[in-house]
Amino acid sequence: MNYDAFFNDSLDDLRSQGNYRVFANLERKAGQFPRATFRDGEGEEQGEVTVWCSNDYLGMGQNPIVLDAMCDAVQSCGAGAGGTRNISGTNRHHVELEQELADLHGKEDALLFTSGYVSNWAALGTLAARLPNCVVLSDSLNHASMIEGIRHSRADKMLWKHNDPEDLDQKLSQIEPGRAKLVAFESVYSMDGDIAPIAEILDVCEKHGALSYIDEVHAVGLYGPRGGGIAEREGLMDRIDVIEGTLGKAYGVMGGYISASTALCDFVRSFASGFIFSTALPPAVAAGACASVRHLKRSEMERARHQERVNTVRRRLDALGIPHQPNPSHIIPVMVGDAVKCKMISDVLLEQCGVYIQPINYPTVPVGTERLRITPGPLHTDADIDHLVNSLNALWSQCALARAVA
Ligand SMILES: *Cc1c(COP(=O)(O)O)cnc(C)c1O
Repeated sequence: MNYDAFFNDSLDDLRSQGNYRVFANLERKAGQFPRATFRDGEGEEQGEVTVWCSNDYLGMGQNPIVLDAMCDAVQSCGAGAGGTRNISGTNRHHVELEQELADLHGKEDALLFTSGYVSNWAALGTLAARLPNCVVLSDSLNHASMIEGIRHSRADKMLWKHNDPEDLDQKLSQIEPGRAKLVAFESVYSMDGDIAPIAEILDVCEKHGALSYIDEVHAVGLYGPRGGGIAEREGLMDRIDVIEGTLGKAYGVMGGYISASTALCDFVRSFASGFIFSTALPPAVAAGACASVRHLKRSEMERARHQERVNTVRRRLDALGIPHQPNPSHIIPVMVGDAVKCKMISDVLLEQCGVYIQPINYPTVPVGTERLRITPGPLHTDADIDHLVNSLNALWSQCALARAVA
């Protein structure tokens, strides 16, 4: 078999469907977020751009408190962890971070993974595979990491209608009593920015004796008085069995975790292959994440400014009739509704306006709902916002895109 010919044919198919991904080479500059240097395919500098689609929602990835903690830990502990957690890879920074995260969510314990993806994959995979005769009830818009974990477990799976507790109730009612039931959902959904009715979902879980598992990846650090997420804001953390989060988005570093009871964390720690057989996070990454979590427990300033910037961008878009999907979160999906135009607008913004917003096309979102997903942050200035909305306004006219009526 000509293997490379097979690979190239598959890639050509992707290209012809418009789904081939090209990464923008963007070097974010500490001290100047949200500014980044854009380089072309050869690595040549093409100028400075303002990033409007970062998941480093609060700019914690350049916060001096975080950088100092990381530098100190590199100096004192070196670069890598040196092993899996079991084979000499556990360091005081991992232990402290797990304590910090358990405290953040009011849980007995927490368990670190190398990413949010791995935490979902490993924790759901392990729980669903090992709970006796388990059925997983998965929200139909769950993230790929949850879907893959559930698939890996080989447990029975039922999809319930997105954010619909009544449908969940019906699905749970069909399951014979005595089986283990695991309900997996998210708080803030990253593409539409909608928020789950967590209290109602928990009512249903409790009624049926199901274990509840929430992904708060797009909410930790951002919502709740200490950054514990939507469940903290709504006073629901103690009713949720497993809270999963990332250290790579609002916390600005890298890594993922679950927080839950001591028994559940110890169970996943003891049985999850994706935890056991992988080198621990570098101590400096754990130290940086720990500093970030600690800081955002005490400081409300970043969250307040974040919400203010989001509201300002929304107001400005409304004034120009640029359609964006309304939602109660910090994610602003500006709807283009056409894959070619969406990609083109993104390219023109980058090459001519110094604005970077990744186009979101199928299969990430359904055909016809192609969009620019804008994530304003506390470090975007009024001038940045002016420039963004003026650039979008000009492109909207140029591409003859529909405007919303005010
Ligand atoms: C990004 C994301 C993850 C994965 O987190 P990483 O730390 O980036 O691996 C998990 N769930 C959701 C909903 C996400 O958007």
